[in-house]
Amino acid sequence: MTFIDSHCHIDGAEYDADRDEVITRARDAGVTTMLNVGTGAPQSGAFERAVDLAEQHEDIYTAVGVHPHDARLFDDAAEQKLLGLIKQSRRVIAWGEIGLDYHYDNSPREVQRKVFRRQLRLARSVQLPAVIHSREADDDTVAILSEELDGKSGTGVPPVNHAQDTRATKLIARGVLHCFGGSLAMARAAIELGFFISFAGNVTFKKAEALRDVARHLPLDRLLIETDCPYLTPVPFRGKRNEPARVVETARCLAELHGQELEEIGRITSENFARLFQV
Ligand SMILES: [Zn+2]
Ligand SMILES: [Zn+2]
Repeated sequence: MTFIDSHCHIDGAEYDADRDEVITRARDAGVTTMLNVGTGAPQSGAFERAVDLAEQHEDIYTAVGVHPHDARLFDDAAEQKLLGLIKQSRRVIAWGEIGLDYHYDNSPREVQRKVFRRQLRLARSVQLPAVIHSREADDDTVAILSEELDGKSGTGVPPVNHAQDTRATKLIARGVLHCFGGSLAMARAAIELGFFISFAGNVTFKKAEALRDVARHLPLDRLLIETDCPYLTPVPFRGKRNEPARVVETARCLAELHGQELEEIGRITSENFARLFQV
């Protein structure tokens, strides 16, 4: 059986003591690929650290981008740093995570929206899929995605050449709504725009019946699985630090919801990952 953890944070200090064991346990569990998402203050070295980890392991890729928590720190220097890392390393396969977080409000909402738009345009300009984080901001997230990606607003950066546009190449410039926790309407709107929907361990939580109902109604060919570790440890491991090997539990949950074998969910979500990120 094979699985892909489409969103993890294993470059952080939480794993400094046993990172190699964590990676080995993931491989032993059938996790063939991990997308490690670099987050943190742009000048803290966090993005370089994420790229380094991906350079060291052939089954780890990375995304880099300024998280909505840090939107207030986004500036021209941050933009140049991100563009430089993308140019420098083929291991960077996505721009993110970017988006809106109105739960913590670590950056002013107006700044979050502005920086989200800016990074969507940048992702598009370098033809990388975007990894989207949205918490308690569903309406604004969908509005911005559709305005920015439906060609309804000016972009400020040259648009990607769509002369030979096909469904596949269009998808390259789209992305994934990670750790999905929104409504069925939101998921469908995002899918309509060319996005994939990724579920994390919270879909296994006892009280997550509404979220499982959303997952049950989405097409399998647009689903991804992730841990978002070290957070959101799935049932039955709640309370412990999360790690990529646990992505199997989220796959197991989706398998039950869709009446599929676990192996089949692993295969489909891995194919979806390859299709979205072109790896
Ligand atoms: Zn996130
Ligand atoms: Zn994350």
